[in-house]
Amino acid sequence: PTFLGNKELNAQLSCDRPIRARLNVTKNPFGPSLNARQAIAACISKAPYYIEDESELRVKIAQYEHLKVEQVGLSNGSLDTLSLLSADIGRNGTIIAPSPTYSTHLSYAQRRGITVDFIPLKNHKIDLEAIKSAITSQTALIYLCNPNNPTGTVLDISELFSFCIEISTKIPIIIDEAYYELLSNFSQKTVAPLLNKNADIIVTRTFSKVYGLAGLRIGYCLAQPQRIKQLYSLTTTSRNQAGYAAAQACFRDSNYLQGAINYLNSCRKIIYKICKNNRLPYLPSEGTFVYINTLRPAQKMKDALMSQGVDVRIFNDPNYLNWIRVGTATPQELNFFEIAISKIISNVTK
Ligand code: PLP
Repeated sequence: PTFLGNKELNAQLSCDRPIRARLNVTKNPFGPSLNARQAIAACISKAPYYIEDESELRVKIAQYEHLKVEQVGLSNGSLDTLSLLSADIGRNGTIIAPSPTYSTHLSYAQRRGITVDFIPLKNHKIDLEAIKSAITSQTALIYLCNPNNPTGTVLDISELFSFCIEISTKIPIIIDEAYYELLSNFSQKTVAPLLNKNADIIVTRTFSKVYGLAGLRIGYCLAQPQRIKQLYSLTTTSRNQAGYAAAQACFRDSNYLQGAINYLNSCRKIIYKICKNNRLPYLPSEGTFVYINTLRPAQKMKDALMSQGVDVRIFNDPNYLNWIRVGTATPQELNFFEIAISKIISNVTK
């Protein structure tokens, strides 16, 4: 097939065929809930106006989390909070983070001259003991991602609680919970309650993943009031009307959430099956993605998949040079992936 039937245009594209499966992103392919869609449409008349008061959503989130409204901050995606606070807190020293992990904000900090000490995973999980041992008098911030992206592995919540209680008295800790709604009994798998015990932790969450609003850029964080003030002092712009309206409409909408969680869980099972059929090891995941050991250089596999219109993500970590991350997607996208990877593997093993 050619792109819109135009051979010349097709030849100009970076791959032979149009991308059919966007498995490089970690999404809920169904996007916003019905309520969120209606709210987006209804907010169009507000488009000429900036949002001057975002307290309604902050109050709603605070009530769910049993926190004070001053402990809740909104940002344009959770990445804005992650980047702004990493660069601002990190400039007093260095940042410690696991590797591999989500690192867009860490690169942002590095570009501002901040050193990030990356600590390898152990058994594919964040190694809290090694992170503790890596702390020096220079350490200004620790970043943890739970569930971790790209491995999809999860920290034991009681170990994470102990770590945060002990370490946050000396060093602030960001805990990125972008995928936490996918954990069973997720409301019990967050460190947010530690904010009632004065812990200097910053918990980031997002409407981008399970809620399907990535393109509308809205996320939130839970932290001590002085950290929320710090975040707002660094922020240059307000939320956008559509993202704000959609978030209001879908936050903890239990019907939608359960449907999304069920779908994403079943997607992961389909990806596991594709791995098993092709004899590829993978990590059981609690995120919107599966990390797969392709048993060959990941870049080669990525290129081979891309030539068939399937885009996947790789992370340049020395311990995971054979691994690709495959995101949850529509059944059709997963079907393309299955056909493409099976073809590649059977050609290699022939
Ligand atoms: N944190 C993690 C672990 C992610 O995987 C992502 C996006 O992929 C983000 C944060 C940023 O997402 P957003 O800025 O859309 O909330």
